[in-house]
Amino acid sequence: MITDIKGLHHVTSMAADANENNAFFTKTLGMRRVKKTVNFDAPEVYHLYYGDEIGTPGSVMTYFPFGQMPRGQRGTGEVGVTEFAVPKGSLPFWQERLSQHGVTGLAQGTAFGETRLQFDGPDGDGFALVESEERGREAWTGNGVGSDTGVLGFRGARFTLRDADATGELLTYMGYQKAESDGAVTRYVIEGGNAADTIDLEQIADAPAAGQGAGSVHHIAFAVEDRAAQLRVREALMATGYQVTPVIDRDYFWAIYFRTPGGVLFEIATNEPGFDRDEDTAHLGEALKLPTRYEPHRAKIEGLLPEIAA
Ligand code: ZN
Repeated sequence: MITDIKGLHHVTSMAADANENNAFFTKTLGMRRVKKTVNFDAPEVYHLYYGDEIGTPGSVMTYFPFGQMPRGQRGTGEVGVTEFAVPKGSLPFWQERLSQHGVTGLAQGTAFGETRLQFDGPDGDGFALVESEERGREAWTGNGVGSDTGVLGFRGARFTLRDADATGELLTYMGYQKAESDGAVTRYVIEGGNAADTIDLEQIADAPAAGQGAGSVHHIAFAVEDRAAQLRVREALMATGYQVTPVIDRDYFWAIYFRTPGGVLFEIATNEPGFDRDEDTAHLGEALKLPTRYEPHRAKIEGLLPEIAA
């Protein structure tokens, strides 16, 4: 069994409009943009990262805003809900705030004994805020969000699957423990990880497969401490028959990817080197950062990208 995984690292989704996406995460949810860079394979598309002050692993939501992109079709084989932790007692504040910002799909409920507020992102993304213990995490504040209300990073994620068993087996192999079930949803928890430590599997046997588009999660990344741990995880996965990519340098972490039996694309990402490797913490996310190979083409790339408000 793998013992190196520490919970979630980041979640990466697709969006249509870059400015709408940026405004939603910084102005509506009050998160910090910790990096403004471009897609490694399509430098005319931004890669925007939002998180806590320094983009702590387990807090980082990232987006590829493709511009004119049809919305994804919700269904099975995807991350259905990305869940953020917020301080205890803050959901009435969020209900009011999100409503005032015109956020749709607001619905409050409980799952696994936790109060949660579901809502849609700008492209129909499935999100929830879950009241959680703070567990040493601090919210980024500003834009009307204080330390008693701000987003604390991820709580976890809920996958929508046609058949949850094989994914459950994989999570167990990755170090997660099967916990309780709530209706059709079964929770898996990783002990001793960061605070983004739950994966919920919702089995819907008769739903159509999801189609990816704007508002869909592209992949979900799990955290390991360093490159040595990542290599151990890679070997263990390959020994079990998974097709895992070589290690790829993503500038702010090292990444490997593999497709899982339920259809969700997994990444294993290192906590090193982090988002402050090329920017001062005080100015994270302000300047456009380019992968080294695109730096000679900066002027052309800047001309292709839409301007984004601070
Ligand atoms: Zn990733």
